[in-house]
Amino acid sequence: QSGANDLQTKADRLVQMSICASLARKFPKVTIIGEEELPPHNVAEELIEDGHCEEILKKPCPPQYTGIKEEELVIWVDPLDGTKEYTEGLLDHVTVLIGIAYGGKAIAGVINQPYYNYEAGADAVLGRTIWGVLGIGAFGFELTEAPAGKHIVVTTRSHSSTLVNDCIAALNPDTVIRVGGAGNKIIQLIEGKASAYVFASPGCKKWDTCAPEAILHAVGGKITDIHGNSFHYNKEVKHMNSAGVLATLRNYDYYASRIPNTVKQSLVP
Ligand code: AMP
Ligand code: MG
Ligand code: MG
Repeated sequence: QSGANDLQTKADRLVQMSICASLARKFPKVTIIGEEELPPHNVAEELIEDGHCEEILKKPCPPQYTGIKEEELVIWVDPLDGTKEYTEGLLDHVTVLIGIAYGGKAIAGVINQPYYNYEAGADAVLGRTIWGVLGIGAFGFELTEAPAGKHIVVTTRSHSSTLVNDCIAALNPDTVIRVGGAGNKIIQLIEGKASAYVFASPGCKKWDTCAPEAILHAVGGKITDIHGNSFHYNKEVKHMNSAGVLATLRNYDYYASRIPNTVKQSLVP
């Protein structure tokens, strides 16, 4: 544990070691930035994954990406997003996030939900993987729009503040859903459970938003900070998304135009 608001479990450490070591072995020139600070040591061979996904390799590479060099890519890894909820047994809030950036832009991402269906009974397949690439699309789920004319805001469950709540109140939503995880909240948007993800607070980091951003953008959605600034994912960038998060699948402008100036003034990018 590294702080009451910022838990780190053995699962966070093991998953990050597995993902980062496996990627580094296959793509030694890529920059990989993981959430957890881990002491450098040899990763057990059983943690190395060397398989690949046939489904992805069947898709043609968009022409704008064919010339990319390995060393130009930055991969942002959140080994376990929604750790607070994980420690409380809310297992379906948990996701594993791997985002790929090129030229500072999120271009591809994977959201793995290891406990998807965990309450659906023994016959249900446990876990799923949602992935997307800008210019190809997003897969592993059924794209669904939120009910028309209803304003359903999804936000943090465990990192609320007066500012977070004031901002949501100003949007006058019909419903507010409070769940853990940035990955999980983007899933709420692309599956039509919520119409906007609103988080007027610092706290969310680049590894929380990179993979979700690529998937959301691949299906025509939009994610920015609370001012409307897009996020940058080059390796030198500040990790913290200091000015919060605003994301939608559709009707971004409706929500962006209703963020109060007082909220914006409190959040410096
Ligand atoms: P949440 O919506 O609260 O699940 O937050 C989404 C992501 O941002 C998770 O990875 C959180 O750990 C992180 N996060 C948000 N707010 C904070 C905070 N105040 N302190 C530490 N991490 C935060
Ligand atoms: Mg996270
Ligand atoms: Mg995490």
